[in-house]
Amino acid sequence: MNQEDKFKNVISHAKEYGFVFQSSEIYDGLSAVYDYGQLGSELKNNIKQYWWKSMVQMHENIVGIDAAIFMHPTTWKASGHVDAFSDPLIDNKDSKKRYRADVLIEDHIAKIEAKVAKEVNKAAGRFGESFDEAMFKQTNPRVSAYIEKIQGIEARMKSCLEADDLVGIKQLIEDEEIVDPVGGSRNWTDVRQFNLMFSTEMGSVAEGANKVYLRPETAQGIFVNYLSVQKSGRMKIPFGIAQIGKAFRNEIVARQFIFRMREFEQMEMQFFVKPGTEMEWYESWKKERMAWHLSLGIPASEYRFHDHIKLAHYANAAADIEFNFPFGFKELEGIHSRTDFDLKQHEAHSGKKLQYFDPESNESYVPYVVETSIGLDRMFLATICHALQEEKLEDGSERTVLKLPAILAPYKIAVLPLLKRDGLPEKAREILGDLMQDFMCQYDEKDAIGRRYRRQDAIGTPYAITVDHQTLEDNTVTIRDRDDLKQERISIDEIRRIVQSRLKVNQ
Ligand code: ATP
Repeated sequence: MNQEDKFKNVISHAKEYGFVFQSSEIYDGLSAVYDYGQLGSELKNNIKQYWWKSMVQMHENIVGIDAAIFMHPTTWKASGHVDAFSDPLIDNKDSKKRYRADVLIEDHIAKIEAKVAKEVNKAAGRFGESFDEAMFKQTNPRVSAYIEKIQGIEARMKSCLEADDLVGIKQLIEDEEIVDPVGGSRNWTDVRQFNLMFSTEMGSVAEGANKVYLRPETAQGIFVNYLSVQKSGRMKIPFGIAQIGKAFRNEIVARQFIFRMREFEQMEMQFFVKPGTEMEWYESWKKERMAWHLSLGIPASEYRFHDHIKLAHYANAAADIEFNFPFGFKELEGIHSRTDFDLKQHEAHSGKKLQYFDPESNESYVPYVVETSIGLDRMFLATICHALQEEKLEDGSERTVLKLPAILAPYKIAVLPLLKRDGLPEKAREILGDLMQDFMCQYDEKDAIGRRYRRQDAIGTPYAITVDHQTLEDNTVTIRDRDDLKQERISIDEIRRIVQSRLKVNQ
């Protein structure tokens, strides 16, 4: 199956089993807005809890908050979002499609990268064990020309973006002969800047309306509360404040399902450090966040770091953790060294001091900040894209299975009476009643047992417990493992221990 079909499968599976629905679908939907269904909201909550546990519960010096979505409008003036939170937009005059100009160029670079990877793979096959990839890239004329081209395009894009040179970006698109991915035409409009913030009005019209914004990131809610948390929590630097919450961006192009939404959720942590130590913390958070991803069991080859070509107005270093989505490696999480930009800006605009008194060095300073910011919806998408598999079984049959990490699975256990009679449902419900106090469980007595197993495979339930006639005699059940399909006979008392042990992760 090619990657495009795989992605279509993910989207239809998500809908069919109640993970993700198009918002307001009965009215034909609302572009780039999605609802999470009965299974999707479980999976999403489990991702949140897994993140919260590792960031807040497992760190003595990180605490969590829940700030409001609406903030004083000056917040967004201070943070630079009113003036600078925009993307360069370009339209194709023939197809009437709209694109982000920087993304068009990035996709063009990705195509050249794919050519490099193809040559490297071919050569690796030819040379076998003795293949030296770095040497090959330097010496093969075709490959080194590709690499030089990529570097040239990146350098031009960086200087145009930094200088806000929209004419230069259009020129780059023209020079590279980049075509509309949909229609294939090169008939482009000029490039324009487009602010991504949604605004609305607060207060009744009679009182005089006041323009407020829907927050485009959760970070500012942390910055404006930084001193209150530091003082009330008696926090000592270095310390972090974490938050999970909604953010809103009027994205120019919203495609790729829940990858780019207009309403989405972020899981962010701002780590406040002594000025001058930020680079150490930046490196250490890069490592720690990558380890968090790997702890969920997805192979390291599916992730990579990507340093930002253009740094945001607030950053002195920034990298993305990219995931290998079916549509290529794309940003999943950002790690940014934000300097003291935000706190200094809020000091200037509010007239309030936001300094920290360091009892060790007896000095006051505005802390520097290292941020880790992951999109919850993108994490959800990465998780299901990797988990959804079509498997051929030993007996020749096929199954669709969602190999979710057990800790994230919506249901941990399915309880299934073998037959709908002979007292088996009653016994199964007794077991269910006990287990559901500790785990999300699903009871199912409809259809043949094989079909019920398949239904649980498709929603990622790691264990199925089957209650049969022997259960009534000796209080044993069979436990079936979703992944290796092994069935074992165990005592009812052992179910908890087995399931619990699979929910422990190495963090
Ligand atoms: P992109 O370059 O893809 O637009 P970004 O660099 O603007 O993303 P950040 O501002 O760094 O993103 O936001 C942090 C995280 O929030 C991203 O890594 C991503 O996971 C998530 N995110 C950002 N925009 C969206 C969106 N429109 N829909 C879903 N998640 C998003």
